[in-house]
Amino acid sequence: LTAESTRLVPHRVIGAGKVPLGLKRKGLRIVVTGGAGFVGSHLVDRLIARGDSVIVVDNFFTGRKENVVHHFGNPRFELIRHDVVEPLLLEVDQIYHLACPASPVHYKHNPVKTIISFLLFIYFFFDISTNVVGTLNMLGLAKRVGARFLLTSTSEVYGDPLEHPQKETYWGNVNPIGVRSCYDEGKRTAETLAMDYHRGAGVEVRIARIFNTYGPRMCIDDGRVVSNFVAQALRKEPMTVYGDGKQTRSFQYVSDLVEGLMRLMEGEHVGPFNLGNPGEFTMLELAKVVQETIDPEAKIEFRPNTEDDPHKRKPDISRAKELLGWEPKIPLHKGLPMMVSDFRQRIFGDQKEGDS
Ligand code: NAD
Ligand code: UDP
Ligand code: UDP
Repeated sequence: LTAESTRLVPHRVIGAGKVPLGLKRKGLRIVVTGGAGFVGSHLVDRLIARGDSVIVVDNFFTGRKENVVHHFGNPRFELIRHDVVEPLLLEVDQIYHLACPASPVHYKHNPVKTIISFLLFIYFFFDISTNVVGTLNMLGLAKRVGARFLLTSTSEVYGDPLEHPQKETYWGNVNPIGVRSCYDEGKRTAETLAMDYHRGAGVEVRIARIFNTYGPRMCIDDGRVVSNFVAQALRKEPMTVYGDGKQTRSFQYVSDLVEGLMRLMEGEHVGPFNLGNPGEFTMLELAKVVQETIDPEAKIEFRPNTEDDPHKRKPDISRAKELLGWEPKIPLHKGLPMMVSDFRQRIFGDQKEGDS
């Protein structure tokens, strides 16, 4: 922590968030909450490379220092261990708000029921409080210093969608009392808060609805489908397909997402904007791509599906194409190998695969 970044005197930088597009400008001071996580750390790489000064705020709940360690020693980089549920005083121009616990999918198959309910209680409590209180604090910060604020919302706000593909105008189909609702409703509330601060306090907000994203630095054991299949195939374990495997998702490579987030932040439109790759796959098709990429002999094992699992999901990205000039460039068969080499390195290190 430096004195400059934690100055405790209220100070308003009027219009600091407004950066005319296309103009060469001085480096900005940017906070990335959740910047030690998967998406955040890739965003930090791009911002630092562009010449900005970046403060990462992370409590390392799912993030890792290793994801940003290559910036240590750079005077334009700072890392603060902080939980965004607590207030934070900084002087910055832009806030990318990514801090959020990952979905607790891996708890759902734990057979020890009493432990699960206890863990789920704690986990869900933090999920909703990070999304609501954490977002409120970061909006309060944005209001005080006149910073532009970008919320990383999610395609989960559409719930189990009755409209396909999903457009930003669709209001969604979310079960408010289901096991996933802490995440879905937490992000929906975060969007509401962002719009209220925009309308009521004039905060310049930007809202991204992110669809399933994968790539290097993803948590290996967070229970998301791409990380599960890749880690399982590398470890010669069967890939666990939940339900009949016919449910669909659309998978976006992380560099495409980061490009979309930066265009959204720099552009003039509040959103919300869907940021996702419209290429739609069933989980069985995904398993096939993983087999082709890692091991044609990799086995599949069916498991019961989780409650309220959305049947299909695919973004309509017309709005982002038209207003941000953005669309994803990297299809699954090109992106997956880049993630696999990172996972291979992290799972086996210098060891040979057969040795494990
Ligand atoms: P991640 O778990 O890798 O990153 C989240 C980061 O937030 C972690 O570094 C974690 O330590 C940090 N964090 C969590 N709670 C915090 C708190 N209370 N205070 C400070 N830091 C905290 O997840 P990710 O995939 O990089 O996701 C980043 C954002 O994008 C999240 O808001 C997520 O909801 C959103 N998103 C991601 C996806 C995806 O497929 N990856 C899809 C939709 C939305
Ligand atoms: N907040 C913060 N950093 C700031 C300014 C505010 O963390 O620089 C927090 C503040 O503690 C409050 C929240 O953001 O909990 C909302 O702040 P706001 O000023 O909008 O609301 P108020 O404090 O007036 O209720
Ligand atoms: N899934 C699966 N096997 C796994 C993990 C997940 O078949 O090992 C399925 C899950 O039931 C869901 C889809 O993959 O239908 C995507 O799950 P994930 O948790 O990655 O993302 P989300 O459900 O949040 O879109």
